[in-house]
Amino acid sequence: AVPASPASAGTAQAACVSIDLGDRSYDIHIAPGLLDQPQTWSGLPRASTALIVTNEVVAPLYLARLRERLSGVYGRVESLVLPDGEAQKSWDSLDRIIDHLLAVAADRKTVLFALGGGVIGDLTGFAAAIYMRGVPFVQVPTTLLAQVDSSVGGKTAINHPRGKNMVGAFYQPVRVVADLDTLDTLPDRELSAGLAEIIKYGPIADAAFLDWIEQNLPALRARDKAALAYAVQRSCEIKAWVVGQDERESGLRAILNFGHTFGHAIETGMGYGAWLHGEAVGCGMVLASDLSARLGLVPTAFVDRMKRLIQAAGLPVVAPALGLNRYLELMQVDKKNEGGDIRFVVIEGLGQAGVRSAPTELVAEVLATHCDP
Ligand code: NAD
Ligand code: MG
Repeated sequence: AVPASPASAGTAQAACVSIDLGDRSYDIHIAPGLLDQPQTWSGLPRASTALIVTNEVVAPLYLARLRERLSGVYGRVESLVLPDGEAQKSWDSLDRIIDHLLAVAADRKTVLFALGGGVIGDLTGFAAAIYMRGVPFVQVPTTLLAQVDSSVGGKTAINHPRGKNMVGAFYQPVRVVADLDTLDTLPDRELSAGLAEIIKYGPIADAAFLDWIEQNLPALRARDKAALAYAVQRSCEIKAWVVGQDERESGLRAILNFGHTFGHAIETGMGYGAWLHGEAVGCGMVLASDLSARLGLVPTAFVDRMKRLIQAAGLPVVAPALGLNRYLELMQVDKKNEGGDIRFVVIEGLGQAGVRSAPTELVAEVLATHCDP
């Protein structure tokens, strides 16, 4: 089983997970109320200037409070408020960040703060990676998905008109601050999308965590802070464990894409934005579980179990009827593929995943079983 993080400690509502990557190691702080606590922001790299990057939805909720805290630490606290949405992971927004930094003569010690969901985190992290060949940055994730997934692991990127996340860098933050109170303002649909990525970590790495999620799903959906603290902690530990062994995705890291091959096909096939990423992944996990069963790796009872859990998380479990050929076409462009074969992350036993190709007949059976008629 995935070991608990060395720094993993705390009270019912607070935890700390350390990401062990040699001189690029850092801590993830997880608790309610972190934003307003001065000690959250102590011990960061010293600099004269900080720049907070956020968006129009998050700024009215949390920007003033973060500014207030950081003004006790940095001589000058700048902020940049971008529009909301995935479209901001663009050359244009990247240029706005770089331009703002140059306009205020920010030096190479300047610390960037990404205050928001995965969009702000991916964009700001990439800006930090390239401004003056790299400045420190802090992730302040405010969505459940960002707290359990995108803020951890060091992948940063913008989108290109020809493909999502096609331009980016591996670049680790110096700290992650996951204030669980920020999740109080998150829309239910976004909370469920984050739950999909939490559920993912159970079957791929930790059978006991899957049991725990099942038992605690109502508390998680009610935003109970102790339940959220453990879910975020354990998710980060599992992601950290995987990333620690395969930072640049040469093998093992691919298991984090459980449900994502079918999920990406649904997302793209329906047109970006129609389904949230987490919704597509939730449904994709039902399909990938069924494929695992049809390959003889897990009993069919596992498929029912996953379907029940994903539905209970407020996520869709019936895939859209795109047609077999369209699904195959969409899944053929997946980054995991080598030499034309479609490769899927499958469950090889509770808490263990692998990557395999599957006969088209089996994929067809899976789709026939789970697609809208
Ligand atoms: P998002 O950043 O678009 O946030 C979702 C919505 O919630 C947005 O409208 C946002 O403004 C709003 N929001 C954020 N915090 C809020 C709060 N506290 N209260 C109310 N509203 C709030 O989407 P996301 O799901 O957080 O992240 C998705 C992005 O993350 C995608 O671009 C994806 O590619 C990326 N991602 C990256 C990685 C990685 O490893 N780098 C992993 C997974 C996903
Ligand atoms: Mg994902």
